[in-house]
Amino acid sequence: MRAWKNTEGMKKITFRVILTAALAVFLGIGAYAGAGEKGHGHWSYEGEAGPNRWGELSPEFAVCSEGKNQSPVDIRGGAKGELKDLEFKYSDNPELDIENNGHTIKVDYREGSKVVVNGAEYGLVQFHFHSPSEHTLDGKYYDMELHLVHKNKEGKLAVVGVFMKKGEANAALDRILDNMPKKAGEKADVKAAFNASTLLPADRSAYYTYPGSLTTPPCTEGVTWLVLKNPIQLSDKQLAAYRKIMDNTNRPLQPLNERRILMKN
Ligand SMILES: [Zn+2]
Repeated sequence: MRAWKNTEGMKKITFRVILTAALAVFLGIGAYAGAGEKGHGHWSYEGEAGPNRWGELSPEFAVCSEGKNQSPVDIRGGAKGELKDLEFKYSDNPELDIENNGHTIKVDYREGSKVVVNGAEYGLVQFHFHSPSEHTLDGKYYDMELHLVHKNKEGKLAVVGVFMKKGEANAALDRILDNMPKKAGEKADVKAAFNASTLLPADRSAYYTYPGSLTTPPCTEGVTWLVLKNPIQLSDKQLAAYRKIMDNTNRPLQPLNERRILMKN
Protein backbone atom coordinates (compact mmCIF):
# COMPACT_ATOMS: atom_id res chain seq x y z
CA MET A 1 0.00 0.00 0.00
CA ARG A 2 2.73 2.29 1.04
CA ALA A 3 4.69 1.70 -2.16
CA TRP A 4 1.59 2.39 -4.25
CA LYS A 5 0.93 5.64 -2.41
CA ASN A 6 4.49 6.70 -2.97
CA THR A 7 4.27 5.97 -6.68
CA GLU A 8 1.08 8.03 -6.94
CA GLY A 9 2.74 10.77 -4.93
CA MET A 10 5.76 10.69 -7.22
CA LYS A 11 3.50 10.88 -10.27
CA LYS A 12 1.74 13.92 -8.84
CA ILE A 13 5.06 15.58 -8.04
CA THR A 14 6.46 14.73 -11.47
CA PHE A 15 3.32 16.16 -13.10
CA ARG A 16 3.63 19.34 -11.06
CA VAL A 17 7.28 19.72 -11.98
CA ILE A 18 6.48 19.31 -15.69
CA LEU A 19 3.56 21.75 -15.40
CA THR A 20 5.74 24.33 -13.60
CA ALA A 21 8.52 23.94 -16.15
CA ALA A 22 6.06 24.30 -19.03
CA LEU A 23 4.57 27.41 -17.42
CA ALA A 24 8.04 28.87 -16.86
CA VAL A 25 8.97 28.26 -20.51
CA PHE A 26 5.66 29.78 -21.62
CA LEU A 27 6.11 32.86 -19.42
CA GLY A 28 9.77 33.11 -20.42
CA ILE A 29 8.93 33.12 -24.11
CA GLY A 30 6.15 35.62 -23.42
CA ALA A 31 8.49 37.94 -21.58
CA TYR A 32 11.10 37.65 -24.32
CA ALA A 33 8.62 38.26 -27.12
CA GLY A 34 7.17 41.23 -25.27
CA ALA A 35 10.57 42.71 -24.44
CA GLY A 36 9.92 45.55 -26.83
CA GLU A 37 6.55 46.38 -25.32
CA LYS A 38 6.17 45.72 -21.61
CA GLY A 39 7.22 43.38 -18.83
CA HIS A 40 10.31 42.78 -16.72
CA GLY A 41 13.29 44.84 -17.77
CA HIS A 42 11.42 46.80 -20.43
CA TRP A 43 12.55 50.41 -20.63
CA SER A 44 11.73 53.43 -22.75
CA TYR A 45 12.54 57.11 -23.15
CA GLU A 46 9.22 58.33 -21.73
CA GLY A 47 6.33 57.40 -19.45
CA GLU A 48 6.29 54.75 -16.73
CA ALA A 49 9.45 53.02 -17.94
CA GLY A 50 11.21 56.33 -18.71
CA PRO A 51 14.74 57.41 -17.71
CA ASN A 52 13.98 58.48 -14.12
CA ARG A 53 12.48 55.04 -13.44
CA TRP A 54 15.14 52.89 -15.14
CA GLY A 55 16.83 52.07 -11.82
CA GLU A 56 13.61 50.55 -10.44
CA LEU A 57 12.70 48.45 -13.46
CA SER A 58 15.07 45.58 -12.72
CA PRO A 59 17.73 44.79 -10.07
CA GLU A 60 20.29 44.76 -12.92
CA PHE A 61 19.42 48.39 -13.72
CA ALA A 62 20.02 49.70 -10.15
CA VAL A 63 23.18 51.58 -11.15
CA CYS A 64 21.04 53.74 -13.49
CA SER A 65 19.77 55.55 -10.37
CA GLU A 66 22.51 54.78 -7.81
CA GLY A 67 25.62 55.22 -9.97
CA LYS A 68 27.84 58.26 -9.50
CA ASN A 69 29.61 57.97 -12.87
CA GLN A 70 26.68 58.06 -15.25
CA SER A 71 26.39 59.35 -18.82
CA PRO A 72 25.60 61.56 -20.67
CA VAL A 73 26.95 64.77 -19.11
CA ASP A 74 27.21 68.40 -20.10
CA ILE A 75 30.73 69.01 -21.42
CA ARG A 76 31.95 72.36 -20.23
CA GLY A 77 35.51 73.55 -20.35
CA GLY A 78 37.67 70.55 -19.64
CA ALA A 79 41.19 70.42 -18.21
CA LYS A 80 44.03 70.02 -20.68
CA GLY A 81 45.12 66.40 -20.41
CA GLU A 82 48.20 64.46 -21.46
CA LEU A 83 46.29 62.94 -24.33
CA LYS A 84 47.33 61.53 -27.66
CA ASP A 85 45.43 61.73 -30.94
CA LEU A 86 42.80 59.04 -31.37
CA GLU A 87 43.89 56.61 -34.08
CA PHE A 88 41.01 55.23 -36.08
CA LYS A 89 41.94 51.98 -37.81
CA TYR A 90 38.61 51.14 -39.37
CA SER A 91 38.40 48.68 -42.24
CA ASP A 92 35.46 48.01 -44.54
CA ASN A 93 32.67 45.90 -43.12
CA PRO A 94 31.65 43.50 -45.92
CA GLU A 95 27.94 44.08 -45.23
CA LEU A 96 25.79 46.79 -43.77
CA ASP A 97 23.87 44.99 -40.99
CA ILE A 98 21.26 47.45 -39.74
CA GLU A 99 18.87 46.78 -36.89
CA ASN A 100 15.94 48.74 -35.51
CA ASN A 101 15.87 47.52 -31.88
CA GLY A 102 13.08 49.85 -30.82
CA HIS A 103 15.51 52.24 -29.07
CA THR A 104 17.94 53.09 -31.85
CA ILE A 105 19.12 52.28 -35.36
CA LYS A 106 22.20 50.10 -34.83
CA VAL A 107 24.81 48.86 -37.30
CA ASP A 108 26.89 45.83 -36.26
CA TYR A 109 30.57 45.68 -37.12
CA ARG A 110 32.73 42.59 -37.56
CA GLU A 111 36.06 42.08 -35.80
CA GLY A 112 39.14 43.79 -37.16
CA SER A 113 38.45 47.54 -36.85
CA LYS A 114 40.04 49.45 -34.01
CA VAL A 115 40.47 52.76 -32.29
CA VAL A 116 43.71 53.37 -30.38
CA VAL A 117 43.20 55.44 -27.23
CA ASN A 118 46.48 56.58 -25.65
CA GLY A 119 48.17 53.38 -26.75
CA ALA A 120 45.30 51.03 -25.83
CA GLU A 121 43.42 49.22 -28.62
CA TYR A 122 39.65 48.79 -28.63
CA GLY A 123 37.76 46.90 -31.35
CA LEU A 124 34.69 48.44 -33.01
CA VAL A 125 31.60 46.34 -32.20
CA GLN A 126 28.69 48.48 -33.40
CA PHE A 127 27.54 52.04 -33.92
CA HIS A 128 24.14 53.65 -33.40
CA PHE A 129 22.41 57.01 -33.10
CA HIS A 130 20.50 59.20 -30.66
CA SER A 131 18.27 62.16 -31.44
CA PRO A 132 18.65 64.83 -30.11
CA SER A 133 22.25 64.48 -28.86
CA GLU A 134 22.88 62.94 -25.42
CA HIS A 135 25.98 64.92 -24.44
CA THR A 136 25.80 68.69 -24.59
CA LEU A 137 28.64 71.09 -25.28
CA ASP A 138 28.51 74.16 -23.02
CA GLY A 139 24.85 73.36 -22.43
CA LYS A 140 24.02 73.15 -26.13
CA TYR A 141 22.25 70.15 -27.66
CA TYR A 142 23.05 69.00 -31.17
CA ASP A 143 20.44 67.50 -33.50
CA MET A 144 21.82 63.97 -33.20
CA GLU A 145 24.74 62.02 -31.74
CA LEU A 146 26.56 59.03 -33.22
CA HIS A 147 28.01 56.45 -30.81
CA LEU A 148 30.76 54.12 -31.99
CA VAL A 149 31.01 51.35 -29.38
CA HIS A 150 34.41 49.66 -28.93
CA LYS A 151 35.53 46.85 -26.63
CA ASN A 152 39.03 45.76 -25.64
CA LYS A 153 40.28 42.23 -24.88
CA GLU A 154 39.36 42.60 -21.20
CA GLY A 155 35.81 43.57 -22.13
CA LYS A 156 36.23 47.25 -21.22
CA LEU A 157 34.26 49.69 -23.35
CA ALA A 158 35.35 52.89 -25.08
CA VAL A 159 32.62 54.84 -26.86
CA VAL A 160 33.37 57.56 -29.39
CA GLY A 161 30.62 60.18 -29.52
CA VAL A 162 30.19 62.35 -32.62
CA PHE A 163 27.81 65.31 -32.62
CA MET A 164 25.62 65.72 -35.71
CA LYS A 165 24.21 69.07 -36.77
CA LYS A 166 21.98 70.29 -39.53
CA GLY A 167 23.82 71.50 -42.64
CA GLU A 168 25.07 69.70 -45.75
CA ALA A 169 23.64 66.33 -46.81
CA ASN A 170 25.77 63.40 -45.63
CA ALA A 171 26.31 60.71 -48.29
CA ALA A 172 27.55 58.03 -45.85
CA LEU A 173 24.55 58.55 -43.63
CA ASP A 174 22.20 58.16 -46.60
CA ARG A 175 23.39 54.61 -47.03
CA ILE A 176 22.02 53.83 -43.57
CA LEU A 177 18.90 56.00 -43.74
CA ASP A 178 17.88 54.55 -47.12
CA ASN A 179 17.98 51.04 -45.70
CA MET A 180 16.97 51.41 -42.05
CA PRO A 181 14.12 49.13 -40.95
CA LYS A 182 10.99 51.09 -40.04
CA LYS A 183 9.69 48.76 -37.31
CA ALA A 184 11.19 47.68 -33.97
CA GLY A 185 12.75 44.23 -34.14
CA GLU A 186 13.42 44.38 -37.87
CA LYS A 187 16.81 43.96 -39.52
CA ALA A 188 18.22 44.76 -42.92
CA ASP A 189 21.35 43.13 -44.32
CA VAL A 190 22.61 45.20 -47.20
CA LYS A 191 25.19 43.33 -49.29
CA ALA A 192 27.59 46.20 -49.80
CA ALA A 193 30.79 47.19 -48.00
CA PHE A 194 30.61 50.05 -45.53
CA ASN A 195 33.37 51.83 -43.67
CA ALA A 196 32.44 53.56 -40.40
CA SER A 197 35.25 56.07 -40.90
CA THR A 198 33.05 57.70 -43.58
CA LEU A 199 30.88 58.90 -40.68
CA LEU A 200 33.74 60.61 -38.81
CA PRO A 201 34.53 64.32 -39.16
CA ALA A 202 37.64 65.14 -41.22
CA ASP A 203 39.29 66.75 -38.19
CA ARG A 204 39.28 64.29 -35.28
CA SER A 205 42.12 65.88 -33.38
CA ALA A 206 40.11 67.65 -30.69
CA TYR A 207 38.13 65.56 -28.22
CA TYR A 208 36.89 65.38 -24.65
CA THR A 209 37.26 62.33 -22.44
CA TYR A 210 35.78 61.30 -19.10
CA PRO A 211 34.82 58.08 -17.26
CA GLY A 212 31.12 57.32 -17.67
CA SER A 213 28.51 54.67 -18.37
CA LEU A 214 26.25 53.17 -20.99
CA THR A 215 23.44 55.69 -21.60
CA THR A 216 20.84 52.93 -21.78
CA PRO A 217 19.95 50.26 -19.18
CA PRO A 218 21.77 48.52 -17.55
CA CYS A 219 23.77 51.84 -17.41
CA THR A 220 26.99 49.89 -16.70
CA GLU A 221 29.86 52.11 -15.54
CA GLY A 222 33.55 51.84 -16.46
CA VAL A 223 33.02 53.19 -19.97
CA THR A 224 35.73 55.48 -21.38
CA TRP A 225 33.93 58.28 -23.24
CA LEU A 226 35.66 60.06 -26.11
CA VAL A 227 33.49 62.84 -27.49
CA LEU A 228 34.80 64.54 -30.61
CA LYS A 229 34.66 68.32 -30.56
CA ASN A 230 34.00 68.68 -34.29
CA PRO A 231 30.52 67.62 -35.44
CA ILE A 232 29.49 66.00 -38.71
CA GLN A 233 26.63 67.40 -40.75
CA LEU A 234 23.36 66.05 -42.06
CA SER A 235 20.61 67.68 -44.09
CA ASP A 236 17.17 68.74 -42.86
CA LYS A 237 15.70 65.94 -44.91
CA GLN A 238 18.04 63.35 -43.39
CA LEU A 239 17.29 64.52 -39.86
CA ALA A 240 13.55 64.37 -40.57
CA ALA A 241 13.91 60.85 -42.02
CA TYR A 242 15.66 59.62 -38.86
CA ARG A 243 13.29 61.40 -36.50
CA LYS A 244 10.29 59.93 -38.26
CA ILE A 245 11.49 56.47 -37.19
CA MET A 246 13.31 57.22 -33.92
CA ASP A 247 12.79 60.54 -32.16
CA ASN A 248 13.48 61.61 -28.58
CA THR A 249 15.92 58.83 -27.89
CA ASN A 250 18.34 60.61 -25.59
CA ARG A 251 18.83 60.07 -21.87
CA PRO A 252 18.69 63.27 -19.75
CA LEU A 253 22.00 64.76 -18.56
CA GLN A 254 23.55 63.15 -15.48
CA PRO A 255 25.51 64.94 -12.73
CA LEU A 256 29.28 65.00 -13.21
CA ASN A 257 29.88 64.49 -9.44
CA GLU A 258 33.58 63.96 -8.65
CA ARG A 259 34.63 63.38 -12.24
CA ARG A 260 36.86 65.55 -14.36
CA ILE A 261 36.58 66.03 -18.12
CA LEU A 262 39.90 66.12 -19.94
CA MET A 263 40.31 67.87 -23.26
CA LYS A 264 42.65 67.49 -26.18
CA ASN A 265 42.73 70.11 -28.89
ZN1 LIG B 1 24.36 55.39 -27.50
